[in-house]
Amino acid sequence: MKKDKLKGPGIQYFLVPFLVLLLLFFLMTYMAIRNRVIERYHSFETDAISIAESYSHALVYSRDAHFIITELLNQRLMLAIQAISMIEDKYDNDALSVIGDRFLLDEIYLYNSDGEIIYSKDLKYLGWKAHEGHPVHNFMVSDQEILVEDIRKDSESDNYLKYAYLRNEDGSFVQIGIMADTVYNFLRGFEINDILIHLSNRSDILNAMFINNEFEIIASSLPEFTGRIMAEKEIEEHILKEDRHTIKTVFNGQDVFQVCVPVFHDGEKHGSLSLIWSAKELESEVRRMILEGVLMFIVVIITVGIILFYAYRKNKANIKIAYYDKLTGLPNSEYFVEYMKDEIKNSDNSKKAVMLINCRNFRTLNITYGFSYGDEILVQIAGRIKELIRPNDMLFKLGADRFLLVVDNYEKKEELNVLAEKIADIFENPIIGSVEHQYINIEIGIAEVKQDITVDKLLQEATLALDMINRNKSQHICYYEDIMDEQVMRQDRIEKTIRAVINSEDNHSLSLNFQPKWHANRNCLAGFEALARLNVEGLGNIPPAEFIDIAEKKMLMYDLGKVILRKACRFLNKISDMGNEDIKLSVNISVIQLLRDEFVKDVLEIVESSGIDKKSLVLEITESVIMDNFDLINGKLKAIKKAGILVSLDDFGTGFSSLSRLHELKIDYVKIDKYFVDKIIDQDEKKLIIADIISMSHKFGLTVVAEGVEKEEQKIYLKKSNCDILQGYLISKPLDEARAIEFIDAE
Ligand code: C2E
Ligand code: CA
Ligand code: CA
Repeated sequence: MKKDKLKGPGIQYFLVPFLVLLLLFFLMTYMAIRNRVIERYHSFETDAISIAESYSHALVYSRDAHFIITELLNQRLMLAIQAISMIEDKYDNDALSVIGDRFLLDEIYLYNSDGEIIYSKDLKYLGWKAHEGHPVHNFMVSDQEILVEDIRKDSESDNYLKYAYLRNEDGSFVQIGIMADTVYNFLRGFEINDILIHLSNRSDILNAMFINNEFEIIASSLPEFTGRIMAEKEIEEHILKEDRHTIKTVFNGQDVFQVCVPVFHDGEKHGSLSLIWSAKELESEVRRMILEGVLMFIVVIITVGIILFYAYRKNKANIKIAYYDKLTGLPNSEYFVEYMKDEIKNSDNSKKAVMLINCRNFRTLNITYGFSYGDEILVQIAGRIKELIRPNDMLFKLGADRFLLVVDNYEKKEELNVLAEKIADIFENPIIGSVEHQYINIEIGIAEVKQDITVDKLLQEATLALDMINRNKSQHICYYEDIMDEQVMRQDRIEKTIRAVINSEDNHSLSLNFQPKWHANRNCLAGFEALARLNVEGLGNIPPAEFIDIAEKKMLMYDLGKVILRKACRFLNKISDMGNEDIKLSVNISVIQLLRDEFVKDVLEIVESSGIDKKSLVLEITESVIMDNFDLINGKLKAIKKAGILVSLDDFGTGFSSLSRLHELKIDYVKIDKYFVDKIIDQDEKKLIIADIISMSHKFGLTVVAEGVEKEEQKIYLKKSNCDILQGYLISKPLDEARAIEFIDAE
């Protein structure tokens, strides 16, 4: 079979939204990550700058603090040394000790002009002489009158001291000193280098530098950088611009951020504080953010993907329910409509046709053996047809018991014939069901696909072709022809007229003709056969074979039969009122009427309400249908007979297989078919079985009627063979009511 063309749920309907969502989520995730990273960098930069800035303030303040403390100490020493210079009797070691205590001095020395200690608070230094290069010697050789030194380590005691000197006129000089270990340590805290080292104690700061306005690194937590010139252009530019900034650069082969903030004091720029910040932590944080984002993206996409996939699967299952027959797995009528629309629209020049395959006795099969048995048979039928068709053909299941085959790309109509015959042939063999071997009656209606035809019309044509199959001629394949449309219209109008007749809206279209029946021996009128006539406006007189068939197909026969029976009773009443009580009237009964449960009851109701004599009514039943439902029909015949109505077996010889059962049937008349009557002329008398039928029927006590008697010759033969009643054109054609009455009167 052709590959499933039904787009079904169409994966693209799920893939496209998925891809759109994918893209959307990707963009969203990308933007979110980007913003987070930017934000993180930004916050890092802000933090870094604010830290640098706070240290830059510390730098400025520590310079101030250093200066103030040093200044105070200087003043104190200056005041003390100037005061001492004015004391006259200080040239005594004990006096120096007292002076030292009073001025809170730790050291006090008097040097001669050669730089030798001649008096001292501490006796152990007496005689010590300043050597060249020593700070004391430096003062001695200088021309300064007074000097306050910066705190320094004493060359003898190893303590930190701050010394002051004052020269006397004779070249001798006084040195005073205060212990400055604490002050020294305290002041050290205010030194740039120490601040920078303190800063770089943070694990993420690799180096902290103070750069002066000439780009020279004047202090650095890593001593080897001190004294270098900042050569990087970008940094230089920023330093010049005096703004706070962070740039990414490489330091000792490692990715870093360099933060620079200007250091101002009293509105004057003293330099820049530059911190080298390791990028490691920040970068690993950024990597984690990206990873988190990517993970979230993957989770969302997988979730959406799974949801869409399940929706797709569910949809696919729904499509399967909607477009496939559950039992056989074949595509169904909905699928067919979609498929055919497509085929018609995109038709190439190849010929296509549809075959509507109907299992005629399927309904009976279901009713008789149950639905699950019927299902089993259907599956087998589907399987058998599938085996036959070519790869490009498509088989569909339509409704309960119909299949539809789309034949693709055939060349001649004969190919269709061959295929249809092949399909019909597979049903020659019985289907093996659970109950018994089952024969299926198959019918195939074929419609060829014409250009621009609608699917609806195509189906209609195939159905029409199926309807046109003449079952009586055991035909099982029929092609749709254009003429069938006309036939359908004609049938439709006939059907409408029948309905109107049944509903008593139309009292003139249906009438009865009466064909006389003649007593062969008594040579007098035996009765009439009522033959229905239908006149349809625009179509004229419709032969009973045609309208009875339509009434049967459209389930109108039962009600039409009742109308006919009432009309027949009215005629019987009329002629009996005229005093013709012995004249019988035969009315034809279709098997469809006979099989209805309420048939006997309804007949009796009509007959009784009309008030006719029951024994003047004969019901004619066609022989061919009796055998199919022998017991059922015979039961009804028995009831009819019991009520006093007579029964005639019509068309005898056309279907009844054995004469043997004739005596079992509850009938009064046997009506030999015209077929046998016609033979009287062409055949050798000896070969005629008609005489045997008559004598046999007589044996069973039946009255024999011969129909279709047209020739004198036939009449003579039938009379000779003891046929009781003759009917045919030779006696009279069917007559309308008025003529029939005239016929009676003429007798
Ligand atoms: P049938 O019951 O076999 O009726 C006899 C048919 O043969 C009638 O045709 C009649 O006009 C025709 N006929 C009679 N004598 C001759 C003859 O000598 N030569 C020829 N060639 N034909 C003759 P009609 O009226 O066209 O009826 C056809 C069939 O329609 C009937 O066959 C019967 O089966 C059915 N039919 C007619 N009226 C009714 C009815 O009221 N109810 C039912 N259920 N079927 C009816
Ligand atoms: Ca008849
Ligand atoms: Ca007949």
